[in-house]
Parts: sequence; structure tokens; C-alpha cells
Amino acid sequence: MPIYSHSRLSTFEQCALKFKYKYIDKIIPPLEKSIEIHLGKVSHEVLEWLYIEVKKNNIPSLDEALLYYRKKWDEMWDPKIVIVRKDLTREDYYNKGIKFIIDYYMKNAPFDENTLSVEEKIMINLDDVGQYKIQGFIDRLVYNLKTEEYEVHDYKTANNLPLPEKVDNDRQLALYSIAIKEKYGQDKKVLLVWHYLAYNRKIQSRRTDEQLKKLKEDTFKLIKKIESTTEFNPNKSTLCNWCEYKSACPLWNDNPPTTKEEIEKTISEKKN
Ligand code: SF4
Repeated sequence: MPIYSHSRLSTFEQCALKFKYKYIDKIIPPLEKSIEIHLGKVSHEVLEWLYIEVKKNNIPSLDEALLYYRKKWDEMWDPKIVIVRKDLTREDYYNKGIKFIIDYYMKNAPFDENTLSVEEKIMINLDDVGQYKIQGFIDRLVYNLKTEEYEVHDYKTANNLPLPEKVDNDRQLALYSIAIKEKYGQDKKVLLVWHYLAYNRKIQSRRTDEQLKKLKEDTFKLIKKIESTTEFNPNKSTLCNWCEYKSACPLWNDNPPTTKEEIEKTISEKKN
């Protein structure tokens, strides 16, 4: 039985055909990431490093954090990264990240929130026998000594803020809170915290035990649906512009390739 993740489930919800290309046919696109993903990964790297240093009782200066950002941006850069938005340049994205780090640093220094771990791997059992599991990584886990609750922190580099109902129904961090309760005790309180770096905003939410129980059941049902799906239909949306398989997709190609080899050839030859 495969181990699922939030992104695997989200891919299916976004487009069943993309899910098939990626997770069933295992077609590896020549370009794994867009510049938005690059910016997100570099920003996460910097904040992970920052808190690792803090845990070592060494608070980096803002200049050091920005130097680390520049180093990671260059190290992780791949010339094949595509900029889909025509109104923005590589420089614009780079500068966005600089602003993320400056704003975050100024708002959160000296970073003394009792961080327990960064990038902690967690596993959630969805059934009693451990057959269906969800795996994830918590950007940062905090134990707040004042409120006596665990805090699951997540960094977002998206350009838009979520609506309140989206926050209160977000699956990813709620699943992680199930893992925290399994690890530290079902009676523990867990706060979900998103840092929207582009807005320098912190958004919070909580889940009741009943909501977590229902989430587990719904996630289990979604996995069952994925596993019983036989027709993986495409689903056109604005996200197609960021889809690595667009040039092979029947919605965007009048003569779409059918075999794995042909699909791989098509997506490696054509650019979105
Ligand atoms: S281009 Fe759009 S419809 Fe086609 S596989 Fe990708 S996400 Fe799905």
C-alpha cells in the first residue's frame, strides 16, 4: 500500500490525469519546479537554517540570514526553471524572497518561541491496523510554555491570502495535529499556524477532536476513491499553466501521446 501525503491527495483532487502521470505512470518531467516552487524551497531552507542556528544558541543576524538566502538561491537554481508569468523576471522573484526574509526576521526576532523541531517527519495512521498512512513534514513544531499547547507552523509563499473558511478546513496541518496528539497525548491542545510571507501575516486555526475524527474518515474515503478509480480524466483549470505534463495533455494537445515513452519525449521536447 503506498504511503500517501497531502500533496499526493491534492494532486488527485486537482486533476486525476496529472495524478496518473505522476504517481501511477511515474513519468518524471524534465522540469520539476517552477520559479514559484524555487522561491518557496529557498525561503523554507533559510527559515529552517535560522531556527537550527537558534537551537544552537546562535541567533544569526539579518545580514547573515540574507547572505544565506543568496547562497541557497544560487545553489538551488536550475537554468531549466521556467517563469510562467510574463510580467515578472527572475530578479523580481529573487527580491520577493529578500523581502520575505527581512519582514519575517523583523517580526519574529529573537525567535524565542521554544521551537522543538524543524522539518520533523510525521506519520499518521488512518486505520487501526496501520495499512493506510499519511506522511508529512512539519516546517516547525513549537511548544508554547505560556499557553501550554503545541503549535504546528507552516510557511506559505503564495501570492494570495486564504479565505477564513479555507483556513478552517485546511487538511494538511490538521492531519499533522493528529500526529502530534498521537505522539504527545490525545488531551494536548494543538494550534495550527500559517505564516503568509508575502503579507507578513500569521493566520491561526484550531480543530476539535470531532473535526479531527471526521478528517481522518474523509481522508480514508478519499484514498479509497483514488484506489478504485479506473478513469483518470483531465481537469482544466488555471493550474494547467504550471502543470509539467501540459504539452502531453489531451486538453492541450490535439494529437496527444499515449505511451509512457511518447509522453516523456513530448514533455521533454516542448515547453509549456
Ligand atoms: S494540463 Fe491541466 S488538465 Fe492536463 S494533466 Fe495538467 S493539470 Fe490536468
